[in-house]
Amino acid sequence: MDGEKAVATLKEIALDKGLPHTEYALFGVRCPYCGKMDRIRPLEPPDEIEEILGEELSRYREAWEVLARQDCEVGICWFCRQVLRLEEDMTSAGPFQE
Ligand SMILES: [Zn+2]
Repeated sequence: MDGEKAVATLKEIALDKGLPHTEYALFGVRCPYCGKMDRIRPLEPPDEIEEILGEELSRYREAWEVLARQDCEVGICWFCRQVLRLEEDMTSAGPFQE
């Protein structure tokens, strides 16, 4: 699975399952796609949401490992539903593909 496919897979599963399960959003972080502030939520690592993922667990984990390997966190914009790369300190977000 390449990065592009991994982003698409996480997005599909996140929308299907209503992820992330937390209501917690990152304040002061702007979405690079739609420009909205305070709409980005970090996605949970697969081990934290095994029961929610169910049969999608292995696909989610495979995609997660592709993206998390890039030394960053993974988030999703709750406004435009794009999967985003979060810097480790979660103060800024960017696209996975440059
Ligand atoms: Zn957005």
